[in-house]
Amino acid sequence: MNLVSTAIGYPYIGENREWKRCVESFWKGAKSEAQLMAEMKSIRLNNLKRQQSLGLEYLTVGDFTFYDRMLDLATMFGLVPNRYQWTGEEVDITTYYAMARGAKDVVACEMTKWFNTNYHYIVPEYEGQSLQLTKNYLLDYFTEAEEELGLNTKPTIIGPYTFVKLAKGYDAKTKAFFILKLIPLYAQVFQQLVDAGARWIQVEEPALALSLTADDVKLVQVIYKQLATEVPAAQIMLQTYFEGLSAYEELSQLPVAGIGLDFIHGAEENMASLRKHGFPQDKVLGMGVVNGRDIWRANLAERATQTKAVLSLSGVKEAWIQSSCSLQHVPVTTKSETRLDATLKDALSFADEKIVELTHITSYIRDEAWAGNKSVSQSMLATQALAQHKARKNARVNELVSQVTPEHFARPMTFKERQPVQKEALKLPDYPTTTIGSFPQSDPVKRTRTAWRKKEITEAEYTAFLKSETARWIQIQEEIGLDVLVHGEFERTDMVEYFGEKLEGFAFTEKAWVVSYGSRCVKPPIIYGDVEWIAPMTVREVDEAQQLTSKYVKGMLTGPVTILNWSFVRDDLSREQVANQLALALREEIQALEDAGIAIIQVDEPALREGLPLRKENWADYLAWGVNAFKLATSNVKNETQIHTHMCYCEFNDFIEPIRALDADVISIETSRSHGELIQSLKQNPYELGIGLGVYDIHSPRVPSEEEIDAILNDSLEVISKDQFWVNPDCGLKTRQEEETIASLKNMVAAARNLRQQQ
Ligand code: GLN
Ligand code: ZN
Repeated sequence: MNLVSTAIGYPYIGENREWKRCVESFWKGAKSEAQLMAEMKSIRLNNLKRQQSLGLEYLTVGDFTFYDRMLDLATMFGLVPNRYQWTGEEVDITTYYAMARGAKDVVACEMTKWFNTNYHYIVPEYEGQSLQLTKNYLLDYFTEAEEELGLNTKPTIIGPYTFVKLAKGYDAKTKAFFILKLIPLYAQVFQQLVDAGARWIQVEEPALALSLTADDVKLVQVIYKQLATEVPAAQIMLQTYFEGLSAYEELSQLPVAGIGLDFIHGAEENMASLRKHGFPQDKVLGMGVVNGRDIWRANLAERATQTKAVLSLSGVKEAWIQSSCSLQHVPVTTKSETRLDATLKDALSFADEKIVELTHITSYIRDEAWAGNKSVSQSMLATQALAQHKARKNARVNELVSQVTPEHFARPMTFKERQPVQKEALKLPDYPTTTIGSFPQSDPVKRTRTAWRKKEITEAEYTAFLKSETARWIQIQEEIGLDVLVHGEFERTDMVEYFGEKLEGFAFTEKAWVVSYGSRCVKPPIIYGDVEWIAPMTVREVDEAQQLTSKYVKGMLTGPVTILNWSFVRDDLSREQVANQLALALREEIQALEDAGIAIIQVDEPALREGLPLRKENWADYLAWGVNAFKLATSNVKNETQIHTHMCYCEFNDFIEPIRALDADVISIETSRSHGELIQSLKQNPYELGIGLGVYDIHSPRVPSEEEIDAILNDSLEVISKDQFWVNPDCGLKTRQEEETIASLKNMVAAARNLRQQQ
């Protein structure tokens, strides 16, 4: 048996986010193109050296990018939309970054979520362009590793099926042309790599883990047959991840030299496929046996047992021991963390630690021994110690969870019954105006927070500052004439972090960054213990604001599913159980807000849709517990209390049922970029609860005119009745400037008033 340890990909950002700093300083003009190239090269080489020193045997190139790997491919194939007026041979860095981020007169390409991760890729646009191989950067990376480090690496590339699936701009007819143009280019890239000495090429096809139709399967077969004909010498490792390989029986027979399967997220399905259909004996099996999506230390004995089971089931002669997907979804190393609880830290594993785990599993299976080290017992002790951690034995939380009954998940009255009660109690005007919660986080706000975090100012000084900022904005909102006000969320940098810091069960890292998109990195909190509400988190701020005005001030919370989806979550409980703990904690906060006299409470769930499982057949289960968690948090209020929720851009068509199931009295929803579509879906699926369609795009500094908003509101009237109609922007305003915010909101309020007069 021939075993090799390898990774599908490694985080490119660097231990200290060197990559981010380098890219951003180039954008600012502080670095020349030559400097950018040189520094990027040294980051690439460092990352390889690092993995090598950790003992990884087969290293990967092409997991690196200057912004996004889908964008890299688009530019490699000359798939540049006409609006960038690109004419050259190679796509220059200015055009590349214009596609990523937009430029003076040209908008950026669309960006969207990479499968069910929190990473976002740039969507390639096919406009019927004649494609060409502009520059084989994979060849450059391969040669660079060979020349500089003497390494024969494995180049990785996103495969043609996935690339086309995630691109846009084609229809059923033009799709075939698109693919026909692409295949020879892929073949050219592969041939050049083979000629340069690449033993394997890793072709990533996560889209093969989605549900596939018979036509999809046929298309995949055509693509790989064609590639095998054009480049017979290329040894392709067809790499799948995030779920089991669909249509295993057919696709395992593709003319490729290896197939990589995810034995973490697709374990059950892939194991069942192996049992049923076996594994082709002429192929190498890539075994994703260490979780590339979570941050938990693996129990090595367990992993090794599973690996052996897969090996014996498949009966292969050669296998790769690898992470379940690219390690780009986890932070670089736990070594950078100096302040974490020791038991927790010991039970964590980021990219570097996961690589070491891979090498341990490999040497164990190879030598039938743990290579003389204590790694197995250590890993077992570390996971056991965390399981015994007092944070996981919270008696009050267990008590609360055990007391939950079905009644906890529903409000006593239906929406139709609550609606008149709330109308009577709240006495809001028709077409009430409001915002989503946050107001601009100006430099003084950010500076004061930093000073407070660094203990340069006292807690009292900090809260006094926040209070004055809220007071200023209450006055501004009154002057603008908004009906339902907010306190402005000046105390929050991030809508999840803020709550995590105030709840029990969370930990925060210093440097555990992962890329969200481009150079933007996020540092998700870690939910490692039982989640408990210990004291009010938002009451003081909202109450102080409410004291300053006779208008209503909305309480503002982040929902349980969003907190869950934007955190790294403990794996000893189900996600549903953790969501319910979060919901119970928020339920206590909502109670506290209500006790303080707050009549309207918004619970944001922008990540509810994001968390949908990859396969449609798994949606119902997720949505059932997700919706229940929201209801568990929000249903314990008086009939008069109005519950709002908010979602960012959301395809309404297939999501209207879950939104309705939330039973929120009002939802505000981002729509201005897809207004027409939304109106269409509401025509087909009438919605009866309160709803505010975002009337302007908050991502742009542009101030929408009153007439523009008038038109949008009038359109919406076709599908939304007066008694459910709310008027609000698309999303929170925290990234906007003050001046443009005030001007936009004034126009919005004027448009709402026009509507009232028309009636
Ligand atoms: N209340 C949050 C805000 O206004 C909502 C942010 C979001 O939807 N992502 O910033
Ligand atoms: Zn939003």
